[in-house]
Amino acid sequence: MSFGHRVGPRGRSGNPNAEPDVRVAELFSSLTSVLCVGAHPDDIEIGSGATLRVMRRAQPALDMRWLVLTSTPERASEAHVSAGRYLGDANLATVLSFRDGHLPYDEPAAVKAALIAHRRGFVPDLVLAPSLRDAHQDHRFVGELVGQVYRDQVVLHYETAKYEGDLGTANVYVPASEEDVRRKIDDLLAAYPSQVTKPWFEESLFRGLMRLRGVEAKATSGYAEAFHAPKLIVS
Ligand SMILES: [Zn+2]
Repeated sequence: MSFGHRVGPRGRSGNPNAEPDVRVAELFSSLTSVLCVGAHPDDIEIGSGATLRVMRRAQPALDMRWLVLTSTPERASEAHVSAGRYLGDANLATVLSFRDGHLPYDEPAAVKAALIAHRRGFVPDLVLAPSLRDAHQDHRFVGELVGQVYRDQVVLHYETAKYEGDLGTANVYVPASEEDVRRKIDDLLAAYPSQVTKPWFEESLFRGLMRLRGVEAKATSGYAEAFHAPKLIVS
């Protein structure tokens, strides 16, 4: 993976005391394969739905797969519908049926084994996974497992808003166009009818978080998705 980057010595503000801008220009176009891991159906899209579209445009031949650890039959069906929109083939999404809300306690070894088994069949360049600092135990557990299983990959941890209020400081931003923001939200609302009764599963929440991160990223569109990268090796 090559990183075509430039570092602005004084930041775009011209303020010599500002943090330097670091723009990674060629990361996505150099990717050949990406694995997106979610604890629940809808996690991947909420955390990285716009980014997945940016990636796809940068590298149309990108081999993208999804692995979702928990589901019910209803939610698995919804996840496959959503995956089809992003992947073009719903069969590229593996949706397992571990119990929502109980991942660290129900069958933890089996969950890790499922990740290891998936890695045997698909070795990606990049893995997207839930945040290591996520207050939801299912998300956090999956994020930790990904770091253990995918040691030779770049891992970017995405974020999701929630009751517990766990948003931290991101260190990777992907600016998103208004069109990408719109399609992410429309697809989420259409693909997951089982979730629309939840008070947070609505446009203003999804758009609001991307707007906040867009300010931090100085995104021209005003919107961005944010990630945390625990480690990047540049070569
Ligand atoms: Zn979730």
